[in-house]
Amino acid sequence: MTAALSRLSHWPRALTLAAMLGAMAAIFALDTLTEYAVAAAVFHTAVILVAVRWFSPRLVIAITGLCIALTLGSFALTPAGAYRTGLINTVISILAIVITAYQGLKMVAAQNAAHAARTQLMRLAQATSLGQLTASIAHEVNQPLAAIVTSGSACQRWLAQQPPNLAKAGQALERIQGDAQRASEVIARIRGMARGEAPHKQRFDLNEAVREMARLSEADLDRRGIALDLLLAPGLRPAWADRVQLQQVLGNLLLNAMDAMDGIKPTAAAPRRIAVATQALGQQLVLTVTDAGAGLSPQARSHLFDAFWTTKPNGMGLGLNICRHMAEANGGRIWATDREDGRSGAVFHVTLAAAGDTAAGVLHG
Ligand code: ADP
Repeated sequence: MTAALSRLSHWPRALTLAAMLGAMAAIFALDTLTEYAVAAAVFHTAVILVAVRWFSPRLVIAITGLCIALTLGSFALTPAGAYRTGLINTVISILAIVITAYQGLKMVAAQNAAHAARTQLMRLAQATSLGQLTASIAHEVNQPLAAIVTSGSACQRWLAQQPPNLAKAGQALERIQGDAQRASEVIARIRGMARGEAPHKQRFDLNEAVREMARLSEADLDRRGIALDLLLAPGLRPAWADRVQLQQVLGNLLLNAMDAMDGIKPTAAAPRRIAVATQALGQQLVLTVTDAGAGLSPQARSHLFDAFWTTKPNGMGLGLNICRHMAEANGGRIWATDREDGRSGAVFHVTLAAAGDTAAGVLHG
């Protein structure tokens, strides 16, 4: 039946309508020529099922009316058989026709509603992922852009001195180049992530990547009067991960650590210091970022990594969500704890794989 119906789909509508009218005429003739006891009119239900599939509800209702009229007409014109049986059969046929049309129209309406809902959902999903992608790019590129502006102003100042300090201006230009390069790499990574691309894993020196990120954050740290301690384990095995993504994670954690200490007066118990530490843990490397902010509220603990969860007036709530995506895409993990020394503040831990001997030999480059 379904196969037959689908074959019908290639027919032009007018031809289908003509075939249906032919079928209705044939059913009418059969119903009239046979005895009352033969309920040939129920075959009209097949006509209605075809009509429901191909025509508008209005036309289906018109065809249903025509089928009922033909059934009644045929009952009036049938010459032979038991009249009472014929009457019952006619009523049953009409009921079958009406119920089939009603159920068929209801089914089509439900299918249309489902189709509309699916289309709407797809549009919504596209809009959401586009919005999320745009927000992620804006979030991640903000830091290098801010650094470019800072270095640009510094460069201007060095050049305006009498005599101009060309060496310092040159250094500022180098930082600008580095930040611009970083911004474009960050955009490429986020686009890749949105397309479901795997991270670009490579062997790299984790401590060196941390130092580089620390240099990039220098201007921000200075502006906020925060000191950064690097507690980097010597002789670490190389990491096996996407270097740019690892630096994005660290950049986000540093920004959050700085934000957490904004507005907190430095005291001996809570100096404005952030510590970034690296260490080996079995086959893995661990990176931790410790701040001396207010620490994690119970609500923060359960929502930290949710997209768009933020307690900052200008926050987007995407930083940690992106960090988690990146850490997990690299086969690592990220989580937050309180400080172990009992002081107030939060510690974020990130694990990543150390390059194994095989990875070092086979996968290098
Ligand atoms: P955003 O920085 O835009 O708010 P994040 O996803 O990076 O987005 O952070 C989400 C929320 O997690 C922050 O708004 C803040 O409430 C909390 N949070 C993140 N890092 C820290 C931290 N180091 N100390 C305390 N709370 C934090």
